[in-house]
Amino acid sequence: MLNSGQKNYRKRKTRRITVRDVPIGDCSPVTVQSMLSVPTTDIDAALKQIRELQTAGCDIIRIAIPDSDSVEAFRRIRAETDSPLVADIHFDHRLAIEAANAGADKLRINPGNIGSVGKVKEVAAAAKDLNIPIRIGVNAGSLPKDLSDNEPMAEKMLEAASREIDVLLETGFEDIVVSLKAHHPVPTVEANRLFSERYGFPLHLGVTEAGLPGEGGIRSAVGIGTLLMEGIGDTIRVSLTGNPVREVVVGRQILRACGLLESGIELVSCPTCGRCKVDVEKIASEVLERLPKTDKHLVVAIMGCEVNGPGEAKMADIGIAGGDGFFLIFKKGEPFGKIAEAEAVERLLKEIEGLIL
Ligand code: SF4
Repeated sequence: MLNSGQKNYRKRKTRRITVRDVPIGDCSPVTVQSMLSVPTTDIDAALKQIRELQTAGCDIIRIAIPDSDSVEAFRRIRAETDSPLVADIHFDHRLAIEAANAGADKLRINPGNIGSVGKVKEVAAAAKDLNIPIRIGVNAGSLPKDLSDNEPMAEKMLEAASREIDVLLETGFEDIVVSLKAHHPVPTVEANRLFSERYGFPLHLGVTEAGLPGEGGIRSAVGIGTLLMEGIGDTIRVSLTGNPVREVVVGRQILRACGLLESGIELVSCPTCGRCKVDVEKIASEVLERLPKTDKHLVVAIMGCEVNGPGEAKMADIGIAGGDGFFLIFKKGEPFGKIAEAEAVERLLKEIEGLIL
């Protein structure tokens, strides 16, 4: 791959924990998480969505456990999949303990609603017995009620996390992951910066309730991407309304844009302008739709004319630069001939297949 975004920042070192067989923290690759959107008790739908998320590249999958029926469903889902599964619990600490015993690879609890210190300690004891980590998930919308309204949001989020960390550390429990999420990127970024200055626990990054895929994806990219490019963050979840597969697609796009994911095919195409005499949008859309899946990292460039076209196409693994009804084709930086516009899609896909074999 010739056109790689070179990252020039160093990932901050954090404590390493493991979720089933997936490491989080230290120098491990940043992982992508998502959460099932179907009812946990609909086991067939849950397993189907787990498979879809795995195919999209999801490393860790979270499942809501709102009641005892969901614990039983979780136990059966656990038996049917190898995916690392996180049990997500609010309000009732007993469900967290039951989910841990039902095979959860990690627990997620919210300090704002799980209840007394004693209850958190009971959850920690169960997690310690089973050797699974706990994520303390701080959300700006559900902070402990005694935190002052006058304090800046980022500091309140840090304080909420600190209190819960202290409780877990008192019990000798250290396999802790923390998330500090607000629905806006600015307090999210500030809270995570403050946290990473004070603690070495791994951070799960996300902008919570970011919204529908368009604006939500941008809010997530700004919040998560800013932190990743400062070397902060060990695992990410993009929260979007709708099918969670889109969260994984956007999450992987954010990692790639930050230079943290070197697999799959990266499509570069120009915005076109008055000089363009080929249909870049149609060709790029069709190629994108039909791109094969691969663990190799390839850059494919589709450019409209001779201004930036040859330069960008030469930097790609395979690239085309438009003329009047034709394209010049470049492979690994070298000119490779001329093709008619009508042949462009099939030829590009054929060349891509050849490069990923
Ligand atoms: S590559 Fe050419 S057609 Fe595309 S935006 Fe640049 S100048 Fe315009």
